[in-house]
Amino acid sequence: MERLIYFDHNSTTPYSPSVSKYLKQDSVEDWYNPSSVYPSAQVLYQRIRESREFIANHLNCSPKHLFFTSGGTESINTILSVETLKLNQLFTCITSHLEHHATIKKIDCLSKNSNIKICWVSNNEQGEVNLDDLEATCSKHPHSLLSFLSANNETGVITDIQAVSKIARKYDCLVHVDAVQSLGKTSIDLEKLDVDFASFSGHKIGAMKGIGLLYARKLFAPLMYGGGQERGLRPGTHNYPAIQSVKLAVQDIDLNKQNYVKKLRDYLEQTLSSVSNSSTIKINCNKANRLPNTSNIYCGGISNQTIILALAKKGIYISEGSACNAGSPEPSHVITNLNVDSSSSHKDYARSCIRVSLSPSNTKEEIDSLIKSLPELVSSLSYVNTNPPVQSA
Ligand code: PLP
Repeated sequence: MERLIYFDHNSTTPYSPSVSKYLKQDSVEDWYNPSSVYPSAQVLYQRIRESREFIANHLNCSPKHLFFTSGGTESINTILSVETLKLNQLFTCITSHLEHHATIKKIDCLSKNSNIKICWVSNNEQGEVNLDDLEATCSKHPHSLLSFLSANNETGVITDIQAVSKIARKYDCLVHVDAVQSLGKTSIDLEKLDVDFASFSGHKIGAMKGIGLLYARKLFAPLMYGGGQERGLRPGTHNYPAIQSVKLAVQDIDLNKQNYVKKLRDYLEQTLSSVSNSSTIKINCNKANRLPNTSNIYCGGISNQTIILALAKKGIYISEGSACNAGSPEPSHVITNLNVDSSSSHKDYARSCIRVSLSPSNTKEEIDSLIKSLPELVSSLSYVNTNPPVQSA
C-alpha cells in the first residue's frame, strides 16, 4: 500500500521518538499505583515529581503551579467554572468568538446557568483579536477573567498574550491562556507571558491522549472530588505512563525544526497561490503572525467534506479544521467569524475551507503531492458544480 501522507498534526500527532520507545519497551513495568507506600510504587511517585519539575523548567514556572489533568478540555473547563471564577471574586468573563469549542461551549454553559457576565471581543478578517476592543471592554468590566488562545488551532493565528496580560494588569483582571497548540511549535515562557492560568494537552506534542496540564498560580476549584492526588485539586489515581509520556514528549521538543516546517508551509502556500487564480484557492489569515505549521485554505466554493474524502482516497489526510467539529453539519465557527468574503455567506465560505497542519516529519515530496492533487481536484469539482448533469425524465 502507498504510504499515507498525514497533514493533520494540529488534530493529533504521532508519538515522539522517546514516547514511542517508552511505550514499546518500558511502560508495561510501570503499573503500580504511584500513591502506594511500597518502594516500587514510590519510585513512580518520585518520577512524577521529576516530570513536573522538568516540564515546569521548560515552561519557566514553578512546579507547584503545575497540575496533571486529562487534557486541554479538562484544564480549560476547570478554570472557566463558576466555582473558580467565584473563588477569585470574578463575575465577568471576556473572550473571543475564535476560541476552541472547549472554551466556547463552557462559556455558553456559564451564560445559561450562572450570573457570570460574558463579553465577546471582536476580531479582524485575519483572525486577530482586537486588542483595542479588549482594552475598552476591560475598562468597562475591571476584575474579569480573560480567556484567549495563544494560537488558533484552525488558522494558526497567534495572539499576543503578553499584550493581553499587560491590559489585564491595568484593570485588575486575571488571564487564562489556551496554549494547547503553541506547545512544541513556539517557545513558551509563562513568567514572561505573565498569565495566571494556562492549559496544555499531551497528544498535540507526541505524548499519549488523555493527559494534559493545568498551570495555575491563582486559586482554582477542583472539577472533581476524591483522593489527595495533585494536592486534592485534581483527584484520581495518577495515570503514570501518560504522565511519563508528557515528560518525554517535552524532552523531544526541538523548536529549531520549526524553521524547516515553516519553509514547507510557505512553499505550499506560495505554490498553491501561483498555480491557481485567487477566486479558487485562497490562503486564510496569511497576513497575520501564525504558527509555522498551519495553513487554512479556501477551495473555491467546493465542499470541504468532498475534498477531504477525495484526498483521503489518494492517501492524503487533511481536515476541515477542528477534529471536534468533524462530520458536523455546522461549518467552522472560527472561519465563519473571520467575515472574509462578502460575496457569499460566511457559512458557505467556511464550508469550503480546509486545514493543513504539518510537523517536522513531513517532506517536500509530500507537499508536492498535495500541490499536484488539490488544484486539480478543485478545478475538476468546480466543473462538475457549474455543469450539473442533465436530469433524465
Ligand atoms: N484547545 C485547543 C486549541 C485545541 O486544539 C484542543 C484540541 O483539539 C483543545 C483545546 C482540547 O484539548 P484535548 O484534546 O487535550 O482535550
